[in-house]
Amino acid sequence: MVNGSLGGVLFLLQPAIQKNLESIKKYDIEWKQLHDQLAVSVEAYSKAISSNAKYTEQLRLFTECQQLSAKIRKVSQEKHILTKDGSELANKHFEQITKIRANLAESINEATTLEIPVRKRANKRGARKKEIQAEIAHNEITEVLNLDITEKLKHEPLYCTCRKTSYGEMIECENNKCPEQWFHLRCVGLEVAPPESAVWYCDACRGHF
Ligand SMILES: [Zn+2]
Ligand SMILES: [Zn+2]
Repeated sequence: MVNGSLGGVLFLLQPAIQKNLESIKKYDIEWKQLHDQLAVSVEAYSKAISSNAKYTEQLRLFTECQQLSAKIRKVSQEKHILTKDGSELANKHFEQITKIRANLAESINEATTLEIPVRKRANKRGARKKEIQAEIAHNEITEVLNLDITEKLKHEPLYCTCRKTSYGEMIECENNKCPEQWFHLRCVGLEVAPPESAVWYCDACRGHF
């Protein structure tokens, strides 16, 4: 996750929206059922009146209609509240996506700026780190927006002896002609990156220098 786990917030919001929509749907079904019941009761009540049924029967049917109407009102109100919550959630969701986009644009910008040939390898390593961060951010938003991430990974360059895409902190072999160029720290048995001033060759290149 990048920059304070924006993606994490987003992932938490999605189920909330889902739940909200499900509740609204439930209220819709209840509302429809109550309406059907009310139609039946109203018909029974008008029949009772026109056939001059007993007053107690008329009263019972009238009360039934009244209670059903009250229930319908309550369901409508609750649905209204949920709909309002729903649009607030959707707004929040949209805000998060906008934030991630802004952060992503920023990281990519930084990466591109730093990519311009720099004096020292040390800086190049820093630039690569930024670039990796931007890549991670990009992967994250791709995932968030449910785009086809596997398609993207197919076109991503492969590094290291493990021949995988770049992730986490990586180290560059000082040999400019190194076939792998960049290595995952773990794959070369490192826990932390050596100081920027250190000269590092991969196992394959080490013997030649
Ligand atoms: Zn590796
Ligand atoms: Zn090498």
